[in-house]
Amino acid sequence: MGLKEDKTVICDNCGKAVANLIFLPDKDDLEIIFINVSKSTHHLKTRENKLEIIKAFYKIDLIALDKLLGNNALGFICYHCKKHYCSECWTNCYDIYDEGYYDYTLGTCPNGHECIILD
Ligand SMILES: [Zn+2]
Ligand SMILES: [Zn+2]
Repeated sequence: MGLKEDKTVICDNCGKAVANLIFLPDKDDLEIIFINVSKSTHHLKTRENKLEIIKAFYKIDLIALDKLLGNNALGFICYHCKKHYCSECWTNCYDIYDEGYYDYTLGTCPNGHECIILD
């Protein structure tokens, strides 16, 4: 269908752009591409929960979207605050590796919650 939508997500703390979400509906898969402030591009494809994902995307309900894609898939949400923050507002960020492979990223949100940001 060639339908392509994108939405910019703004940091709840400072108002800077957190990510640009690009949504590519497809016959079989939905693909959400997001580019966050670290400039790395992530591609998430799914066949499950398509209708719910579409609804969450259009409402920019990022908590719902993140849960549907797998918790901490988007990589900028604090589940304690239920808010999303840019990379400058997350502090003490570090990557955890398991036997040499990236596992997840920990960080502290502006309200002092230490949590997994990206998994
Ligand atoms: Zn928080
Ligand atoms: Zn921020």
